[in-house]
Amino acid sequence: MSDPLLRVEKLVKRFPVKGGVLRRTVGQVHAVSGVSFDLARGETLGLVGESGCGKSTTGRLILRLIEPTSGQVWFEGRDITALKEREMLALRRDMQIIFQDPYASLNPRMTVGGIIGEALTIHGLAPSAREREARVVELLETVGLRADHMRRFPHEFSGGQRQRIGIARALAVSPKLVVCDEPVSALDVSIQAQVVNLLEDLQEKFGLTYLFIAHDLSVVEHISDRVAVMYLGRIVELASARELYTHPRHPYTEALLSAVPIPDPTLKRERIRLAGDVPSPLNPPPGCNFHTRCPIANQGSCRREVPELRETSPGHFVACHLRG
Ligand code: SF4
Repeated sequence: MSDPLLRVEKLVKRFPVKGGVLRRTVGQVHAVSGVSFDLARGETLGLVGESGCGKSTTGRLILRLIEPTSGQVWFEGRDITALKEREMLALRRDMQIIFQDPYASLNPRMTVGGIIGEALTIHGLAPSAREREARVVELLETVGLRADHMRRFPHEFSGGQRQRIGIARALAVSPKLVVCDEPVSALDVSIQAQVVNLLEDLQEKFGLTYLFIAHDLSVVEHISDRVAVMYLGRIVELASARELYTHPRHPYTEALLSAVPIPDPTLKRERIRLAGDVPSPLNPPPGCNFHTRCPIANQGSCRREVPELRETSPGHFVACHLRG
């Protein structure tokens, strides 16, 4: 991909685990283990996996809300992992996040106008109170809310409306990249599609680029241009959405896809049930970290060697010894 907006290179994040009276480091959580991908301008990359697979940590590392253990994040050609906090502040305008729980992420003591206007003030985007208010109204209407909502507090809104407020806050600073961290997971199914449709409309209107994080492949199917599947801190498959949904190659992707309902009742897909739970990221299995649950794992390479993410057909990357 030439000139991507975002390039993530071999990103690693380990969280130390403290124990004992002296609170010494007794282990490490392997949250993200060598994640790499590019994101083109205007593209949506869906990042999917079960909880604890490292997808949200990856989103936060990209925004530098947490610091990586190693690896780089390039934004518009600059390695932002090397930037000082002051330099990073200017860049934060270009990179925003929408959180999973819109209630927890909105200050309950502030009015909606205050919440959205705060971002404008921090970045010096509304020189006067009047301009600030006009911009807040514009943003509320952009996300399908009304001007008079600005005087209300977050608890007066439904979950879907609160997520719209979160979206308006992210849009306030005219970002280029938005990390959507499970933005619809906490919402009723009937509301999820409305919020996803809104995000699609906003992307078209403002030329946004999305990293769309979800635990369910069905959520990202329609909004994503490409989809990356994560398991225990690693990307195991990455392809265009169409290719991944029609020709999955990694056994884990196959299992996730088998759980996605098919709209046509005459078609049946056999559910693949994986044995056991996801192993602890404190002590991930050696070799392919999926081998403890993989229905086709062998006794040799699967247990000994970490499979690399390899391009098996144009644009289709798979990390599997037997399917790679
Ligand atoms: Fe399964 Fe082996 Fe492929 Fe891992 S490398 S997904 S264990 S077949």
